[in-house]
Amino acid sequence: MQYKLAGKEPRAVLRYFEEIAAIPHGSRNTKAISDYLVRFAKEHELRYFQDEVNNVVIFADASPGYEEAERIVLQGHMDMVCEKNADVVLDMETEPIVLVLDEDGDTLRADGTTLGGDDGIAVAMMLAILEDKTLPHPGLDCIFTVDEEVGMDGAEALDCAAIHGRKLLNLDSEEEGVFTAGCAGGVQPHITFPVERKEKKGLPFMIRVSGLRGGHSGECIGLGRANANQILGRVLCVLGKEFSFRLIRMDGGSKDNAITREAEAELLFPCGTDRAAVTAWLDGFAELLRNEYQFTDAGISLAGEWGEETARRVMKRKSARAVLCFLAVFPYGVQEFSPAFAGLPQTSLNLGILKTEENAVRAVFLVRSSVNSQKDMMADRVVSLAEALGGSAELSGCYPAWEYQAQSPFRDIMARLYEEQTGKKPRIAVIHGGLECGLLSGKLPGLDAVSIGPDMKDIHTPNEHFSLRSADRVYQFVLSLLRESR
Ligand SMILES: [Zn+2]
Repeated sequence: MQYKLAGKEPRAVLRYFEEIAAIPHGSRNTKAISDYLVRFAKEHELRYFQDEVNNVVIFADASPGYEEAERIVLQGHMDMVCEKNADVVLDMETEPIVLVLDEDGDTLRADGTTLGGDDGIAVAMMLAILEDKTLPHPGLDCIFTVDEEVGMDGAEALDCAAIHGRKLLNLDSEEEGVFTAGCAGGVQPHITFPVERKEKKGLPFMIRVSGLRGGHSGECIGLGRANANQILGRVLCVLGKEFSFRLIRMDGGSKDNAITREAEAELLFPCGTDRAAVTAWLDGFAELLRNEYQFTDAGISLAGEWGEETARRVMKRKSARAVLCFLAVFPYGVQEFSPAFAGLPQTSLNLGILKTEENAVRAVFLVRSSVNSQKDMMADRVVSLAEALGGSAELSGCYPAWEYQAQSPFRDIMARLYEEQTGKKPRIAVIHGGLECGLLSGKLPGLDAVSIGPDMKDIHTPNEHFSLRSADRVYQFVLSLLRESR
């Protein structure tokens, strides 16, 4: 294979990164990359196991002089989010992504697709460490999980019986100099409202909410941005007080963890409705929204479009009333901020997916909290509300929070080393997103964990990129941590 980054540091890491990039490895498409890791372990005569969901764990013995040192667990996920620009024809299921090094010689990205730096850089670093028999280190348990990006299914399924290390370095963070020491847990309430319909004649009207900023619900929920599903529910509820109409459908969003940027509803107004009055009302409401969200979603737009008089299958009033009430009052956004970390959302929820079918309206939420009991409380609230209105609920994708530990000897060693090397103190952070450390700390009692990574931007988008120099510094830091862990 042709190595584009040959000669760039960290050399061994980038060589493996290129090999990984050549293997399509989106979430739930991990057999090939998992087998690649197994081949690597065999070639290097390392003990390993691969489980049936394709997680791989590779073990390395301690270097001479480190036999008595506590084992260290290194960890990252092998799957990536596959996103591409609309004009890219590449099939990310079967074809390799194309790496591009910017003219600055430092910024690595992919050509119109996600790069998979999240979390390929962790995989590449672990392989580079495992390959080099000259590196001094304690015994290592290197965990490569699958499907982190789709609910952490790999970490959930992983059998940790053979993992004896209790100091975990997770390599799935995106800011150099930040040591993450806690994260939120999550759970998805799936709400279903049954819908009965009947045929009705009238004037169809399409309402569209668009132009919102959106963002990842772990990173951005604390910024007060609007969610299009919530706005749509609010608009329909108020509109219903002014005009009579029937509901046909409401749809918005496709990912539970993305703040919904667009949503739309199809309504049916009685023939003879004063269209101009409805349109004027909508314009007035749009103005009000622009004022409310001028600081967070300056581009917010609310638009309506009339169709020709026709017959449609509309929701019966009882079905529509329950759904509209739910959409008008469901809780959204930050419910509580952390009393310990200023500005950190402690408990939040996002309605990421709203979908109408012939016989049902479905809503998928993602509840997050860095306190496990609050996560359960929020999920209960949404479920109770839905059930009281005649809906039903199921919970899925539950993973525990990685609760912040004030005492962390492993973090202390890392902080000392970092300060010695850079003259700066690391920033200790707790995040509202999810990391596999939560699931792993549930399975490895007494786990002392920290998460780090190089500067990486715009992950999960075709603009994802990271800095080679930052990756090199982080890699050298990891090597020094292993060296100092006697
Ligand atoms: Zn990741």
